[in-house]
Amino acid sequence: MLMKIGFVNLEELKNSIKDETILISIMFANNEIGTIQPIKEIARIAKKANVLFHTDAVQAVGNVKIDVNDLGVDLLSMSSHKFYGPKGVGALYVRSGVDFVKIQDGGHQERNKRSGTENVAGIVGLGKAIELANENLENYNAKLLKLRNYFIKEITSKYQNVKVNGDLKQRLPGNINISFPGIDGEELLLKLDSQGICASAGSACSSGSLEPSHVLMAIGLDSDYARRNTSYYFG
Ligand SMILES: *Cc1c(COP(=O)(O)O)cnc(C)c1O
Repeated sequence: MLMKIGFVNLEELKNSIKDETILISIMFANNEIGTIQPIKEIARIAKKANVLFHTDAVQAVGNVKIDVNDLGVDLLSMSSHKFYGPKGVGALYVRSGVDFVKIQDGGHQERNKRSGTENVAGIVGLGKAIELANENLENYNAKLLKLRNYFIKEITSKYQNVKVNGDLKQRLPGNINISFPGIDGEELLLKLDSQGICASAGSACSSGSLEPSHVLMAIGLDSDYARRNTSYYFG
């Protein structure tokens, strides 16, 4: 369903909705290549087909302006530590009128949707973190964008054969993903580390794995490129 650059193909999405489809769930922004999906258009398609739409906005919240009503999403999830809040707490936005079956039984907390005593300190921390992130969003994004564009300009002019993966416009401002043909990702990381530069050769979820990135494979890179890849997160 992904085109070369990492966007969901909307025609294919429309055609894959069947009579029994009840939910579409699509990542808002990709954690490896930063691609921001056309969420509003996807929400429109889902609504027209009478299907609920959930978006995993864990990478987007705190980095992109989000208005659930403007976007038209039914469900949206976020994770506090991705916008400098405390670890171990997240939130799910549920549009009023949307019902779902709870995954754990017992207490009646959180409107009977999630049993268990609430982590109040975590919840307050999440609230404060998002408040601060939103206050600084525009300035912060402008700063990141400047740094990122400078970085891309310098690296692509010095090393002609590096490949920047993903789209450069519809992308998280603090994300870059680059393949260095002929250079081993792990080796590069060691050298960067010795120079005091933090980078990763894959997402935290797949750290320690020697498999090429499934995201890069899905957008059509061959496995060699996908393995010789390094992500940089500014911020
Ligand atoms: C980090 C991440 C998650 C997982 O969230 P955790 O709270 O760290 O477990 C899910 N989806 C995306 C897109 C992410 O970037």
